[in-house]
Amino acid sequence: GMCLVNCPFGAIADKSQIYQVCQALHKGEKVVACVAPAFAGQFGKEATPAKLHAAMKVLGFYDVVEVAIGADLCTVEEAHDFLEEVPAKQPWMGTSCCPAWSVMAKKLYPEFTDYISMALTPMVITARMVKKDHPDAKTVFIGPCSAKKLEANRRTIRSDVDFVLTFEEMLGIFDAADIDFSKLQANPEDEMDEGTGMGRGFAVGGGVAAAVVEAVKHIDPDRKIQIEYGDGLKNCRKMLAMAKAGKRDGYLLEGMGCPGGCVAGAGTIAPIRDSMMTVEKFKNAAPSMSCTESPYLDRLEEVEQKYEINHHD
Ligand code: SF4
Repeated sequence: GMCLVNCPFGAIADKSQIYQVCQALHKGEKVVACVAPAFAGQFGKEATPAKLHAAMKVLGFYDVVEVAIGADLCTVEEAHDFLEEVPAKQPWMGTSCCPAWSVMAKKLYPEFTDYISMALTPMVITARMVKKDHPDAKTVFIGPCSAKKLEANRRTIRSDVDFVLTFEEMLGIFDAADIDFSKLQANPEDEMDEGTGMGRGFAVGGGVAAAVVEAVKHIDPDRKIQIEYGDGLKNCRKMLAMAKAGKRDGYLLEGMGCPGGCVAGAGTIAPIRDSMMTVEKFKNAAPSMSCTESPYLDRLEEVEQKYEINHHD
């Protein structure tokens, strides 16, 4: 999505599903919002997690779910994969959650395809859990990312993620519906309290690798992981070139397409520094810090079941 943000002529636009989401809401369908952790701070200071929930309810959403839950499960999966695969079966492992990075890595270096983690992305894990709990629901991923629109459009994922909206598009819906966060009443029960701090940290560059390292400390304290983080596709390319030269053996490589990570995604609204600070607060407010303490860990197997046939599709 960086071409979209940086084009001096504004000539590039992504395909929006605002209309389709609003139609589903108007028809009274059960629509569940899966909100990426980078939402913190995007809709103004008044838009606390509980008020965001209240605003979504006003719009007709059935429920709001934190994508940090999926990030927690993705982290634990990647930690186990790393421990089992590196260096026994592959020299290094790349993270899976940023589609811009993983698609580029696989296109530039097809021989590295199997080195990019096989874990499903937080968006897909979260949507899949929602579909398991509510088979009649429509899922909307609300996040910072244009590239997720491409990821959700992949044939086998389409059934899990019905629509993708960016924060910018969501703000457009709030404005059109005259949602004023300062006037909304927050229900204390609607506080987000299911994602862990490290899972919420996926929103800021370096947060994915940090979460995996932290999880490994719990799973196998004797193992040490070397990590490198590349943000922006240029830096990601450099990282891959170093790996190609054999200089990243034993590493976990975190690639993020946007400079700064998801808080700098093409669909964000707030200044990056402010977002980083608000995400940090949201992270520290989590009921637990380690992804290994997620209350949803026992659902990992269930959501990963369809995975073998889906990967690299
Ligand atoms: S870093 Fe950018 S492209 Fe990658 S998942 Fe985040 S917002 Fe999307």
